Amino acid sequence: MEIRMIVSLRQLGVWTVLLALSSVHPPAGGASELSEAAPRLLGAAARSPEAYDRLGELCDNYGHRLSGSAQLEAAIDWTAKLMREYGFENVRKEEVLVPHWVRGEEGAYLTSPAKQRLHILGLGRSVGTPDGGIEAPMVVVESFDDLEARDEKDIRGRIVLFNVPYDGYGRTVRYRGSGPSAAARKGAVACFVRSVGLPGMQTPHTGALRYSEEDPKIPAAAVSREDALMIARMIERGDEVIAHLEMQAHTLEDAVSHNVMGEIPGSVHPEEIVVLGGHIDSWDVGQGAQDDGVGCMIALHAVRLIQRLGLQPKRTLRVVLWTNEENGLRGGAAYAEAHADEIERHVAAIEADSGNGRARGFRLDLREAVVGENSDADSLDLLREEGLQFLDTVGAQLRSVGADTMRAGGSGADISPLARQGVPCLGLDHDASEYFRIHHTESDTFDRIIPEDLNHNVAVMAIMAFALTQMEGELRGLRSRHAP
Ligand SMILES: [Zn+2]
Repeated sequence: MEIRMIVSLRQLGVWTVLLALSSVHPPAGGASELSEAAPRLLGAAARSPEAYDRLGELCDNYGHRLSGSAQLEAAIDWTAKLMREYGFENVRKEEVLVPHWVRGEEGAYLTSPAKQRLHILGLGRSVGTPDGGIEAPMVVVESFDDLEARDEKDIRGRIVLFNVPYDGYGRTVRYRGSGPSAAARKGAVACFVRSVGLPGMQTPHTGALRYSEEDPKIPAAAVSREDALMIARMIERGDEVIAHLEMQAHTLEDAVSHNVMGEIPGSVHPEEIVVLGGHIDSWDVGQGAQDDGVGCMIALHAVRLIQRLGLQPKRTLRVVLWTNEENGLRGGAAYAEAHADEIERHVAAIEADSGNGRARGFRLDLREAVVGENSDADSLDLLREEGLQFLDTVGAQLRSVGADTMRAGGSGADISPLARQGVPCLGLDHDASEYFRIHHTESDTFDRIIPEDLNHNVAVMAIMAFALTQMEGELRGLRSRHAP
């Protein structure tokens, strides 16, 4: 059963008949178009050095790109220029006010049991220390529950270290987000969080914290896994561990930044839009190569590839490079707001934001709003099932390169405001087994990008984007503008 049949029946609103007719074969027009385009896209991507070369220029010529920095705006201007050079249409920047956090100088060391330097990176949005720093005894906790169980007198006036082993990003990252305020609530004067990522080499991973409104804002930093384990061992032995932390981190007035976008207008339905993109901002360490310069170049060159081969998307393909994903998500929010009047005409949105591991397929992210108001409780499940069936028809073209795994899951932070408003969203599903070793670190550099994997990812993205521009009907549910 392919989407052509699903959608035409959905237009009648006949959900039960749909299931009963699942063995009916749809006409094959769209499918054969895709099966002709897919090998050409794969072949052309494999031969093109463009995505790799341009990513190298982005990383080396602009460096890391934190919101509020001149490098970020220069990189945004460069990508707009690149889109124009490639012949994309409607290339434009859209203004976004973004938080302007500045790290400043920072450092930490132990003064007891022996003086030694710690490997830290202040957490994004953290406040700084007073001049001269903070020096205090340390206490180690293993979890939020462990912190809760401690006597307040054992926390007050101390620096709390959350020594939480990495157990998958989603599960561990909450200590970075909420740990500092939880520690402050019990009287801690500063907070260290064991680096949230796979074991590196004395490599702290930064990332954003979220202060609660009620609690005092205390300075917070990621500390390398090796240093966290050492401090835990010292305390286990009964040593008094005293740390000195100095951070000049501070937040300035919001700064002007931009989302940047360009298009290939659709040849049949130019008003219907398939968005694909990544985020152009990065943390202020490394080069933002895997997070997420590469996602930007994957999306941009997927469109470039379709255009170079002379394929004619029926719907408009729009590449969007969002700003401020890392410490505010203002770019994604601003895009959804600025394009509110055409959200209904967003047929799908795809984000690449998990590094450059080889894509294995896509995650399909359909939220409540996708089924519209006239749906029953089962509609979302049914729609997900149908959506995955459509993705599988695209996956058939990706089987030979191992990118045919389609599953339900999250898509991307920048397109989540679209997903919440009912736009069917997809995430490029990379092999992320190495990504969490280097993302948000000084090690996120261009030399770790494998060109063959990048070209694979560009082709996989291009094939899915092209399929979405050509499919008949929509993945969206009963509130589709085609619905009766
Ligand atoms: Zn990212």
